Formats: sequence, structure tokens, C-alpha cells
Amino acid sequence: MDVPLSAVKKQDILSRYKLPAKVLFCKRCTMSNQRPRIQFDEAGICSACRYAEYKRKADWNEREKELVDLCDRYRKSDGSYDVLVPCSGGKDGGYVAHQLKFKYRMNPLTVTWSPNIYTEIGWTNLRNFIDSGFDNILGTPNGLVNRILMRLAFVYQGDPFQPFIYGVTNFPLRIAVQHGISLLMYGENGEVEYGGDMKNVDRPTRDITDHSQHYFSDMPPEVWLERGLTEKDLYPYLPPDPQKIHDNKTEIHFMGYYKFWDPQENFYYCIDNTNFSPNPERNEGTYSKYASIDDQLDGFHYWMGWIKFGIGRATSDSAHEIRDGKIDRDEGIGLVKRFDGEFPKKYFKQFLDHTSIDETYFWDVVESWRSDHIWRKSGNDWVLKHPIWTENEGS
Ligand SMILES: [Zn+2]
Repeated sequence: MDVPLSAVKKQDILSRYKLPAKVLFCKRCTMSNQRPRIQFDEAGICSACRYAEYKRKADWNEREKELVDLCDRYRKSDGSYDVLVPCSGGKDGGYVAHQLKFKYRMNPLTVTWSPNIYTEIGWTNLRNFIDSGFDNILGTPNGLVNRILMRLAFVYQGDPFQPFIYGVTNFPLRIAVQHGISLLMYGENGEVEYGGDMKNVDRPTRDITDHSQHYFSDMPPEVWLERGLTEKDLYPYLPPDPQKIHDNKTEIHFMGYYKFWDPQENFYYCIDNTNFSPNPERNEGTYSKYASIDDQLDGFHYWMGWIKFGIGRATSDSAHEIRDGKIDRDEGIGLVKRFDGEFPKKYFKQFLDHTSIDETYFWDVVESWRSDHIWRKSGNDWVLKHPIWTENEGS
């Protein structure tokens, strides 16, 4: 089984992601206006920074009461699962599951969608998490199909991680329906925490109908039927029947609405409670050691964000750490300058093997996603037209 690739075509990033043509940086953090769906206000502050401000003023005692009420409404007395927590074994899902089980006395089923290729630390963390007191279902898709999908997503979406995002989004829903669990509890709402669609700022839930736009860039799994994959191939990536989701009274809630969300605090919490370990070395492209460390190949997801939007992994990490008050903006800019865009060379060979593409084709695909409004050529090198560290030099 294989799926032929067509010739690589130059992509129009601006219109595809509806991006502003002029690059601007938030005055408070390191994020630019090139992040899809982020909004900047008249003062030049991004929606994620505005949310961080709002978060500090929320009444967290009141929110916790809402969480207690929610748990009371969904708690079951027959020993069956009353809440489903999607969790990789990392710090965020680990915090949510541990709090729900041991502080709020719920009976969670944790559900993991397998990384493309587990790192040793990722696998150890999942096992340690399970051993700290949780039932877990690990969903692992057909490796052959996954590899083809990854390759297609890399070529046609400029993001080899899209199949993983399908699984992470849809597999927990399917398990919830199968087990008759109505409540799903996620960690933070990425759209409001990191900049995106702000319609859910004051709501604990998300609409399943937004999944395609917010998580799949309007390319849901079904689009790959046109490229030769079958419904059987795509089944694990697809959501369950909408009628079943409805009949199950399925609701998706975010812990970040009920409890003050701080990834670094989650990290310390999981070291103490779920035997979580950080990466022994920093992740390529950034300075952090504790976020997104389960998959050998996820560096290519972040790195393609750098090519498409000029937003690398250090930009994302530093932006939220500035908002969380861990570092200041100047430190953030220094970290972006130092680490953003570092190529994920450690697992490059694994990436090429896994997606069955050669190096020449790899670079052709990368170039097809490089946008003129972000990049210019300087000698033989591509450089950013508007790096954050030159923002005050005028242009
Ligand atoms: Zn900002």
C-alpha cells in the first residue's frame, strides 16, 4: 500500500491561514500576529496576554466551587468511570487526572493517544503516571497508515503532526462514548491561553463543532479519502457518530477554567505526585525540558511553525512564561534569538525513515511552505525579514 505524492507546489501562507501581511509583535510577550487566529488590540497587546491579565482577576474560589458542583453532578456511585482525562503521562494531563482523583474524589479513566515514535522519557513518564494510581487506555494506530498520513500532512499541510492531532482530539471522544462517560476534562484551553479564538474566554467548555477549524486547520481526517486512503484506514482518527456524542450527553470541559493554569506549577506538582521526570536535555529549538517530550518527531511540528509563521518553539515557550511571570520580555527575546528555529537534527533520520521521503524532497517541501512575507535570502541563507530583536530599528 502506498500513496503517490504530486509535485511540490508553492503554498500561499497568507491567504491559507488568513494572516496579516505586516508582521507585528505583542508589546508584552514575544508572540507575533502571525499565529493563526490570534488577535491584537489597539494597544498592540495580544489576546493571550489580555487573557493572562483577566486570569489574574478571576475569582478562583468561586471557580473551584463550580468545579466541585460539576464533579458532584457527574460523580457515579457504581464504581464505573465518571470522567475521562486525555493524558500523555506528561505534566498537564497528569495534574488534571491527579487532582480530579485525589482531591475531588472522582474516578477518572485516562486516555492516551500514542506518539508517532515514543521517546524513552515519554514512555517512562506514562508508565510512572499509570503506576501512581490510574487506569489508562493507550490508543495506537496502524503504523503503516500513520506513516502515510504523516507524510501526506507534511506535504499538503506543512505539518507532519496533523494525524497525531486528529487522534488526540477524536480518540478520547470515541472512548468516552464507548464507556458511557459524559464528562471529558482537558487541561488548558489553548485557544484562549495561547492566543486564538476568544469566544470561550468565560466558558468552561468547548464546542465539538469547532474541532475542525481550531485543531485541524479546516482539513479534517476525511480530506485524505481524496488521496487514496480508505474509511477503514482513517477510522481511528475520526470522531464517533455525532448522534452517539449527543446521546452520550458528552461535554468537554477545561481544568484551566476552574483552576489557575500554570504549566510550570503543573510540572512541580507531577514531580511530587506522578513521578514525572523532565527531559535530561533541552528540546531542540527551545530552552525548556519539561513540555512536549514524548515523541521523537514532534520537533518537526514546531520547526514547520517557524518556517510558515516565523514562530518557533522558543517563541511559544517564552511567550507563555512571560505571561506566567516566570521571565521578563527582554529575557524572552534573548531566548528567541538564541534558540528559535534550531533545526531538529537529532531525529532527522528517524523522520525521513518514518515518512519514507528523501532529503531532497524534504527540503523541497520545506521551501514550498516558506512564505515571502516572513523570509528573505541573505547570501545562501534564509533570514527572517522581521525578527523580534530588531523590532525597534524601524522599517
Ligand atoms: Zn502577548
